[in-house]
Amino acid sequence: MDLTEALALIRRVPDFPEPGVMFQDITPVLGTPSAFKAVVDAMAGTLDDVDTVVAIDARGFFFGAAVAYSLGLGVIPVRKAGKLPVVGGKASYSLEYGTAELEIPAGVIEPGQRVAVIDDVLATGGTAAAACELVELAKGEVAGITVVLEIGALDGRSRLAGRKLDTLLTV
Ligand code: AMP
Repeated sequence: MDLTEALALIRRVPDFPEPGVMFQDITPVLGTPSAFKAVVDAMAGTLDDVDTVVAIDARGFFFGAAVAYSLGLGVIPVRKAGKLPVVGGKASYSLEYGTAELEIPAGVIEPGQRVAVIDDVLATGGTAAAACELVELAKGEVAGITVVLEIGALDGRSRLAGRKLDTLLTV
């Protein structure tokens, strides 16, 4: 399957998880082997000179882990607060629907490592910006951010100004 066909499997679900939000559901991509491979390969293809991958809770884990594996790298989960046993740093962020905190594990990024940040969807950009903040708090260098889908109208891109941002699809 080519990338365009793979991305066409993403479903738009109106009013989820609350009224007014158009949820971009990537689960059909995950469940279709050839689509999952096309998307993961394309994401991996955006990365160059990267030492490790940070994957964002929760749907970023699927893509981040697969991209890391395909590049022969490790993967570091950035998680919603309260899930990690050994916390190295915390950052608050606002979502399209609510606010929350993200945490990064202690002792897994080596100072100076070049880190790719991976997620499924870029909406307002708050989550990705917080993940980048955590990488830098851990003394890593953000090599780039790669997401499957960007919601153009929410302009998350402007919160990541000055950073390398790759998105496979803009809606
Ligand atoms: P934001 O911080 O606003 O860029 O939100 C991005 C994060 O929230 C990602 O981890 C997404 O998985 C999730 N998210 C936000 N809005 C949506 C949406 N409309 N559809 C699917 N996921 C979303």
